[in-house]
Amino acid sequence: MTEEIIEPGSIIGILGGGQLGAMFGHAACQMGYRVAVWDPDAEAPAHRIASHSFIVPFEDTAARAKLADLVRAVTFEWENVPAELCEWLAQRRRVCPSGSLLRIIQDRVEQKRFLQSRQLPVPQFIAIDSPAQLADAVKAVGFPSVCKTATSGYDGKGQWILRQDSDVSTVQQALSMIAKPSLRWILESVVNFERELSVLVVRGERGESRIYPVVENRHEQGILRLSVVPSTVSSDVALSAADLASRAVAELNGMGVFCVELFQTAGGLFINEVAPRPHNSGHYTLDACTVSQFEQQVRTVCGLPLGEARLLCPAAMVNLIGSEVRAVTSGHGLDDLLSISGAKLHLYGKRVVRPGRKMGHVTFLAERIDTVAEQAHRFLNCLG
Ligand code: AMP
Repeated sequence: MTEEIIEPGSIIGILGGGQLGAMFGHAACQMGYRVAVWDPDAEAPAHRIASHSFIVPFEDTAARAKLADLVRAVTFEWENVPAELCEWLAQRRRVCPSGSLLRIIQDRVEQKRFLQSRQLPVPQFIAIDSPAQLADAVKAVGFPSVCKTATSGYDGKGQWILRQDSDVSTVQQALSMIAKPSLRWILESVVNFERELSVLVVRGERGESRIYPVVENRHEQGILRLSVVPSTVSSDVALSAADLASRAVAELNGMGVFCVELFQTAGGLFINEVAPRPHNSGHYTLDACTVSQFEQQVRTVCGLPLGEARLLCPAAMVNLIGSEVRAVTSGHGLDDLLSISGAKLHLYGKRVVRPGRKMGHVTFLAERIDTVAEQAHRFLNCLG
């Protein structure tokens, strides 16, 4: 059955008010909607564009009832919001993606088990329920391996690399320091990848989908550094990446915007993870595509037709991380950057600068892929 369309003028709720929530809010406002933002942090960027702000913990039951009264539909900006809250809201309002899907995705162990059960390739992994199980897990997975918290990790936080026997006790101690009954971990073999790729998949309520071109990503210390699109992989690899991504989202019966992160290796592609939301590696769509990933999120949550996912020109996106933001906000930085034709600056308006915190990004646009790649690399050198 077709769900009703939610018309412009309605209020859409978003759980989480970081930069992804703010970019969703801009897209929604541009299409005539109003946005209710729920984020316990009063300084969260999306509060600035909200028509209604909820600045209370996600456990606040009075606030959830108020939100349900206020909005026609709800989405979220990242996977670490409580699935239970999404499920409660879904009994009253349209929630997209669904809370049950969120439950699978927000736990790395559940997500990998699900993908594996559908014959989708993932790195070798093993679940760890207590620090004492680490040594046996390492015996099974081998070196090098990476131990990650099963839930709540992002941007490389909550991850430990194990390269040799002596690392096992060090990591075990680190896990013991934070251990509590609700916490578990996953140990994965470290994939010797040639490239990291990502594919954005938008899927509607009738299973219709749009797939964006394959993006090539570089991470540093677990944080996305650079994304270049279109990727220079062969057309065979690009097709396989798009196929794997769309199969993963279809198996999840996903409705909404999804980003599938992949490792390209000599032995084929592996899925690193599926994010049930717009993704940092898809920020280029704001400037370089017919319809951005955030507008697609608005369209899916409001039951509107999906937009075209066409790349208009090559693009390279560089994140501004921590104090790097000062390179464009002080001295001649802004002048130098904006003098580059095709350079587009996005600052998230975060007042507090912290190491590893994403403060903004720059997208370079040009007719040729080598031009954007060169501009991005030159800019990265300026950031030092
Ligand atoms: P994640 O938060 O799991 O996406 O990890 C962030 C980044 O760490 C990835 O984009 C990779 O660069 C690296 N990484 C994570 N897991 C692995 C793995 N199993 N093998 C190799 N690199 C990894």
